[in-house]
Amino acid sequence: MSQAIPRTRRSANVRLVGDFDDLLAANKEFASDFRLGGFDGVAHAGVAIVTCMDSRIEPLRMLGLKAGDAKIFRNPGGRITPQALEALVLGVHMLGVNRILVVPHTRCAVASHSEQELRDLVSASAGVDASWQQFHVVEDQIASLAEDVQMVRSHPLIPGTTEVGGFLYDVDTGLIDQKF
Ligand SMILES: [Zn+2]
Repeated sequence: MSQAIPRTRRSANVRLVGDFDDLLAANKEFASDFRLGGFDGVAHAGVAIVTCMDSRIEPLRMLGLKAGDAKIFRNPGGRITPQALEALVLGVHMLGVNRILVVPHTRCAVASHSEQELRDLVSASAGVDASWQQFHVVEDQIASLAEDVQMVRSHPLIPGTTEVGGFLYDVDTGLIDQKF
């Protein structure tokens, strides 16, 4: 007799057959026509993009780029975190990056909720206390973007020859507006 295991309590070792079948079938289709094999990992357009995890954002397509053109780093809010800086330093020195775009977006969850609101929402969804979880909400999106761009520009391992811009992506029009 088997009992349903709540998703949050599922052992990492238990493989539930079927959960990913649709995606793996799509991958087989993708691989059947695969043309990126043996491709190098350089950013062929010299571009690195830091943007939000938001599903409304298509980082390559919104800039007229394609696979192989850009390094992309995503997190909630599209923030310049220590990990984002690690990625950008590697991108600039090892992967051909010479232009960096920091691109948060309109109607972003981390810019339109307070830390407490997000904790309450997650607590309600999880059914357990989430008051310890940090979400790094943004109170002033444009001011945060200015700080983030400055952090990249002033990083000792990002040379002055690297162009760094701060932009806001409008999820309702698809337009990108340069702010910095
Ligand atoms: Zn967002």
